[in-house]
Amino acid sequence: GTISEGGGGGSRIMVYVRLRPMAKKEKEAGSRSCVRIVNRREVYLTELTSDTDYLRLKRLRGRHFRFDASFPESTSQQDVYATTAADLVEGVLQGRNGSVFCYGATGAGKTYTMLGTVEKPGVMVLAIKDLFSKIRQRSYDGNHLVHLSYLEVYNETVRDLLSPGRPLVLREDKQGIMAAGLTQYRAYSTDEVMALLQQGNQNRTTEPTRVNETSSRSHAILQVVAEVGKLSLIDLAGSERALATDQRSQRSLEGANINRSLLALSSCINALVEGKKHIPYRNSKLTQLLKDSLGGPCNTVMIANISPSNLSFGETQNTLHWADRAK
Ligand code: ADP
Ligand code: MG
Repeated sequence: GTISEGGGGGSRIMVYVRLRPMAKKEKEAGSRSCVRIVNRREVYLTELTSDTDYLRLKRLRGRHFRFDASFPESTSQQDVYATTAADLVEGVLQGRNGSVFCYGATGAGKTYTMLGTVEKPGVMVLAIKDLFSKIRQRSYDGNHLVHLSYLEVYNETVRDLLSPGRPLVLREDKQGIMAAGLTQYRAYSTDEVMALLQQGNQNRTTEPTRVNETSSRSHAILQVVAEVGKLSLIDLAGSERALATDQRSQRSLEGANINRSLLALSSCINALVEGKKHIPYRNSKLTQLLKDSLGGPCNTVMIANISPSNLSFGETQNTLHWADRAK
């Protein structure tokens, strides 16, 4: 599906949900599945596990969630790519910028969907592969060079993941907003890309207490520039602490836990969907960096990642609500 300006003047964002398989840890903790996907579109939160869950579900009664597509546990990486991002790669070759976001709580499957593994590469790798093969098939001239940059926004600080070092400063010129000094890696083939991205991912900021785990507050942005158009692929920070969906998190808004970029992204998406004139791109580093790839004449795709476990019921519900508002 291509994205067009909606009837109400709002931008159309394609919204997908991906349910990951139950993890071993979740099984061992005795969890049950509380999510059902029906008809490849509809998502139901089903299981009643405690009084609180029952109250939550009661509020949801009579409604389920429907998205452009919903991917059950068994969906392959290739299938997710083909449904969500393949059209955007085509768009980039026709000069239309695009962006694909993975949204969801920590552990819900964002990095798996975006980066994947060597055996099962994700959207980032499959998109670049597809881009190369399209360029080759059509024997474009040498103008179709592909450049990659991979960067991180962590606590409103921008860093180059391909060449870690000092924070980068955002500059605005005629071309738009860019990170000064960011590595533009000239890619010739897909083979080198997975290793490059894995390396870059290891350069993401980790929580001080868990040195081997990527910080849940870090956004990773891969930008693929193919001369005529740009594709941005974004592995967002964990959504669990970021949004004011209940009173508890409303309070944390005033504390240190607010993720400015994630909140600003939500505001921009809501403003775009509602057809507002003013889109508040300036409110965060993430939205400044994505200004030319989000809304307007661009293709925008959101993949909401969820766990099937009833232990994540609240997070899953928040993610589905968030994704529902992005439609
Ligand atoms: P996040 O980036 O949202 O924090 P991850 O992508 O790291 O979450 O996923 C958490 C764990 O679940 C990882 O071990 C990952 O390999 C696994 N996982 C996530 N999605 C899938 C999937 N669709 N199929 C198989 N394993 C998955
Ligand atoms: Mg991750």
